[in-house]
Amino acid sequence: MSSNNKVGFVSLGCPKALVDSERILTQLRIDGYDIVPSYDEADIVVVNTCGFIDSAKQESLDAIGEAISENGRVLVTGCMGAKQESITNTHPKVLGVTGPAAYEQVVNQVHHFLPQTETHDPFIDLVPAHGIKLTPRHYAYLKISEGCNHRCSFCIIPSMRGDLVSRPVGEVLDEAERLANAGVKELLVISQDTSAYGVDTKYKTGFWQGQPVKASMQGLCEALAQLGIWVRLHYVYPYPHVDKIIPLMRDGLILPYLDIPFQHASLKVLKAMKRPAATEMTLDRIQNWRKLCPELTLRSTFIVGFPGETDEDFDELLQFLHSAQLDRVGCFQYSPVDGAKANELENPVPDELKQERWERFMATQQEISAKRLQDKIGQAIEVIIDEVGEEKIIGRSAADAPEIDGNVFIEPNSSVSEGDFVKVKIQDADEYDLYAVVAE
Ligand code: SF4
Repeated sequence: MSSNNKVGFVSLGCPKALVDSERILTQLRIDGYDIVPSYDEADIVVVNTCGFIDSAKQESLDAIGEAISENGRVLVTGCMGAKQESITNTHPKVLGVTGPAAYEQVVNQVHHFLPQTETHDPFIDLVPAHGIKLTPRHYAYLKISEGCNHRCSFCIIPSMRGDLVSRPVGEVLDEAERLANAGVKELLVISQDTSAYGVDTKYKTGFWQGQPVKASMQGLCEALAQLGIWVRLHYVYPYPHVDKIIPLMRDGLILPYLDIPFQHASLKVLKAMKRPAATEMTLDRIQNWRKLCPELTLRSTFIVGFPGETDEDFDELLQFLHSAQLDRVGCFQYSPVDGAKANELENPVPDELKQERWERFMATQQEISAKRLQDKIGQAIEVIIDEVGEEKIIGRSAADAPEIDGNVFIEPNSSVSEGDFVKVKIQDADEYDLYAVVAE
């Protein structure tokens, strides 16, 4: 067993937090620490926390408590660390607290409390160029910015993560290229607001492979398309400039997939949420996108039971679902988040009504999603393979983002391996998933 100092790591929260964890782990590994899977083996434990909703905060506090009692030497980082007292009030024994995306500070704290025992030799210690990844090897998250310029009334992310700060485009593309060279076949582009990329830097041109690249969503997508792997966009808002990305999807350069959190359809509710409110134009935009790129998959999330939502507002939302014919939809019942402006709004919706609306919403959308999947039966499509088991193979099509969308379940086939792109023929479908065989 290596005599390097050992760090345990607990990663909580969303894909954005996962990317932070990957960066911290990568740096620690590069600095000569071993990453170990148990409290017993670890000389120190880092907990990357999530502070998005109250239950996530509690989960984070519990994880810190467990690490303290099992190991004793604990550093805390991540969203919840933005407010140091929220941690130290409950757990005064933590050695140090840092906020979100504080890679260097966390690594410095590890160095301070656990000085390295040996000098790391980059020629001996094999550090994969893409870092230590917590996702399967063939896909990776690519975070392009931090923070957000919106002030949605139900959300406290801007108060925790601050305004939008875009990463330099050359740096993002270098990371994407390293990931592609390390065998990643699918990049999941994430940020709080992907379509706002570059707004804060006034779209400052950067350089990649010696060529100038504009730091805008379009510039970034055009450059990522050159990597020749799947590129999937998350958290895109329906701004007019998104129209320019659709031809890249039609031409097969990036995946024809948009994840757009619409949240609601009633102008009144959208206004109370402080969201960009233009449902009519949104429907027109969706229609135009589909005309240009018929294979486009649209995923979205919505909130029902927002304070002040009336029966009419809710009916408008159901009507929107019928008109928009979205492929994939997530829906949350509104729940107040500590510190969010929406808590001050009048006319909260009673819990039973929230539940009833949520059920009606889900039933309506399920029918739409199921019908859209049924239409795929008989088609031959390309999938990426996530898992190969003896009884079934699990893949995903361009329409399925990992972890949040459905799967394509494929009959066993000995020629298929994890991470492969494979042509399959769709034979059946249910509400969420497709069933297929490998095409001859
Ligand atoms: S767009 Fe709204 S919901 Fe999303 S992070 Fe920004 S403020 Fe929060």
